[in-house]
Amino acid sequence: MKKILFFAVALFSAGSLFAQSQIVAHRGFHATGNSARNSLSALVNAQEYKFFGSECDINETKDGVLIVVHGLNHADMNVQETDYATLKAAKLENGETIPTLEEYLIQAKKNTATKLIIEIKSHATPERETRVTKNILAMVKKYKLKKDVEYIAFSKHVCQELVKYGPKGIQVAYLNGELTPLECKQLGFTGIDYNHGVLKKHPEWIKAAQALGLTVNIWTVNSTADIQWSIDQGVDYITTDNPLEAKRLIEKK
Ligand code: MG
Repeated sequence: MKKILFFAVALFSAGSLFAQSQIVAHRGFHATGNSARNSLSALVNAQEYKFFGSECDINETKDGVLIVVHGLNHADMNVQETDYATLKAAKLENGETIPTLEEYLIQAKKNTATKLIIEIKSHATPERETRVTKNILAMVKKYKLKKDVEYIAFSKHVCQELVKYGPKGIQVAYLNGELTPLECKQLGFTGIDYNHGVLKKHPEWIKAAQALGLTVNIWTVNSTADIQWSIDQGVDYITTDNPLEAKRLIEKK
């Protein structure tokens, strides 16, 4: 019995030792061709390169449309307080239109080898965050993408609502960085997705999280040195604007 246990532990350790870090293209793979952050083409590019994941940021417009855009400010407009029609008229820097979440899900469905990593942005009140979270879950369900989507958020409330209202097996990683892996586990989250500054300050959190069965994602690492550090630490996912460099370094390992 002891022997079996020993081999099981040895196998498990070897498995985690040799598990490769996977690439998440931050706001899609935008640093190629004439793409732009959070554009539809950035998702298509990530799919073409078969990256593990393509991250995107979701905000709700004043009139309740879920759109893929990062900041509160788009062309000097607060996207959460502006109607979709007005935002749509202000193009992205490459001439594309701000995609809706629905357009993104339709594209995600065309090639599910690349997961869509949905960041739900913080909204002004917990009530609005709950509504946004429920609407996103409903739309993902409508397109039958629950296994092909993972969620991240800075808002603890959003992460808790995802756990509460999401389907069984939902993947939810917390971004804000102040909670220990154990605290995240106790809240029902399935991963930590922390800034590299946080993980450099607490490198012990990487193995602690993995020992608790949590995934570890690190953002946003773009330099060769930071990407290499992340690979050496054995993180599960590397979120980067420079996915080709990450691919090169992972394959070199
Ligand atoms: Mg993001």
